[in-house]
Amino acid sequence: MQLILIHDDRTGRLQAAHGWLRHCFGPPGPYRLLDPVSQLVMGLIGGRTRGAVSAAAFMRLRQRFACWESLRDAPVAEILPLIAGVSFAEVKAPRLPAALRMVTARRGALTLDFLAGWPDGAALDWLERLPGVGRKTAATVLNFSTLRKPVLVIDTHHLRVIRRLGLVGPRAGIAEAHDCLTPLLPSGWGAAEIDDHHQLVKTLGQRFCRPSRPACPACPLRALCLQGVPRRR
Ligand code: SF4
Repeated sequence: MQLILIHDDRTGRLQAAHGWLRHCFGPPGPYRLLDPVSQLVMGLIGGRTRGAVSAAAFMRLRQRFACWESLRDAPVAEILPLIAGVSFAEVKAPRLPAALRMVTARRGALTLDFLAGWPDGAALDWLERLPGVGRKTAATVLNFSTLRKPVLVIDTHHLRVIRRLGLVGPRAGIAEAHDCLTPLLPSGWGAAEIDDHHQLVKTLGQRFCRPSRPACPACPLRALCLQGVPRRR
């Protein structure tokens, strides 16, 4: 019987893309890590909203509520005006305290620190059972917070780029793309390198690989891209 080793060249392309982007944009960071519950709150209000808008809403919540237990116990009518600028605020306002109540009900206290000792997949599953928490928000809680676990975050900018690069299928959603890319990440990367990778790809998506009319001629990854480089006849 012959052992056949299959090399998935997407790992090499992912590493090459990372290196080029780091060369072009410089090293990302420094990072300001929130505690996990604060990162959950940030993630719950941040979906489909510009970072500056969600950060301002987060600060208003912090100023109004002395602790996240107070937000958990607050009426929706008090929360809604504080996050009024974010997308789908009417949906997010009730989900915020609902998610915090569910954490409390499942763990007996409003804390996510216990996830530090959990396997990454189990921690993602646990978080994704909270109201309003999908793969992106769950991954941010694990990677962007002081938990600092080696979990890849994929947002809409990141997803658009990796679809066009051909690293995931053209119709892959965030959870599918996450499952597809995670095994391709270099084994030596820790949480900080994985965070760097997300920030670099996201920056490319914002500056070059825009939703419409991507700036392919100027894109630093055009040589690696399946969609942006016209095929030769
Ligand atoms: S070459 Fe074009 S489509 Fe490809 S990653 Fe760059 S901007 Fe996006």
